[in-house]
Amino acid sequence: MKLCRYDDDRVGLVEGDSLTDVTSALDSLPDMRWPVPAGDALIAHLDEFLAAADEAAATVRKRLADVELLSPIANPTKIIGAPVNYAKHLAESRADAGIHHNRDIKTIDHYGLFLKAGTSLVGASDGIALRFPERRNDHEVELVAVIGSTADRVSAANAMAHVAGYTIGLDMTVRGTEDRSFRKSIDSYSVIGPWLVTTDEIPDPMNLDLTLTVNGDIRQQSNTRHLIFDVPRLIEYASSFYTLYPGDLIMTGTPDGVGPVAHGDRLVASIEGIGSMTVDVRNA
Ligand code: MN
Repeated sequence: MKLCRYDDDRVGLVEGDSLTDVTSALDSLPDMRWPVPAGDALIAHLDEFLAAADEAAATVRKRLADVELLSPIANPTKIIGAPVNYAKHLAESRADAGIHHNRDIKTIDHYGLFLKAGTSLVGASDGIALRFPERRNDHEVELVAVIGSTADRVSAANAMAHVAGYTIGLDMTVRGTEDRSFRKSIDSYSVIGPWLVTTDEIPDPMNLDLTLTVNGDIRQQSNTRHLIFDVPRLIEYASSFYTLYPGDLIMTGTPDGVGPVAHGDRLVASIEGIGSMTVDVRNA
């Protein structure tokens, strides 16, 4: 299943270049009042939601070209990032002063993981708003694993049972000397989309081509088999420090080819088995 959130928080099942509206299936989610439990309610009850969507006999179809695509995950408790998780990106980071800013770039097992503010989360149609256009703002295309069920100190061997699906992420970054989580938490600097693809459609997330173009030019092109910490190990690593909740997003790291974007640029991020998302860049 490819599940999208669009327009005024509507939900659609994506097939080809169109979607079927299944917003009425949200009625299957439990009634909630403050304080709401941790985690994204739709992802926590995804099976019930999809069953209700199946019975809804939805008839409203829309062309994807005619809707505004929002982040398919609305309420993650955490957006987790993986620093320098591709060897070639590690090498380019060490070679480029515009990336390392005179710091010794170490490895993911040295840094651990980092967190991005939930308020940085947007969807493809929201676009990226550069808050400091005079500084270097880089694109980072990444496979994103979406946690499906609560995971506390799980082993890599058991990790994949806690994944709901995958989506594409842009871990946008303003380069500089500040802490990584600060530089990557600017509003709109976590672009997720264009939809969630459930795990049944992606049995092996560790062999997916991923590509990013800027104004039609290929900037990043790799495959997730080159990840240093693969998805199961990232889940084991993350959940060894904090409990993962449904809807939590693990941005798995970016391959080499990162580079600056500017007002007016159009990014197209693609991952095999998921699709492509088009994201425009503007000044905030
Ligand atoms: Mn990144």
